[in-house]
Amino acid sequence: MLAETLDDISPAVRADAACNDLNATLTGVYFSEELQDIAMAKSICSTCPVITECLEGAIERHEPWGVWGGQMFINGKILATKRRRGRPPKLARIEDELPDIPVPVHLQSWLRSA
Ligand code: SF4
Repeated sequence: MLAETLDDISPAVRADAACNDLNATLTGVYFSEELQDIAMAKSICSTCPVITECLEGAIERHEPWGVWGGQMFINGKILATKRRRGRPPKLARIEDELPDIPVPVHLQSWLRSA
């Protein structure tokens, strides 16, 4: 959850959000297309006490882009992984590894139809 979108978020979720620094300094990270930024956003989400509520809210609002609830939204779909542009490196880059954050069981059926 980011400061520019706080109006859409319940006050309880907003207050506990790990990404809410009140200055929106993480906005670029949460809406970046760079793998390193996405990995950082997902890492922050993995420590967030309102991760499930955040993901539920993003799904309800049909968020098109960004990292929400530990998941990556692209074109309104939740993608588990994303590749860097261009030819894949011979050796995997550790900075390109995206944290694997499980989707809550009650949201998995929705994700399959996304
Ligand atoms: S789950 Fe992630 S995007 Fe959602 S409020 Fe927490 S840190 Fe922010």
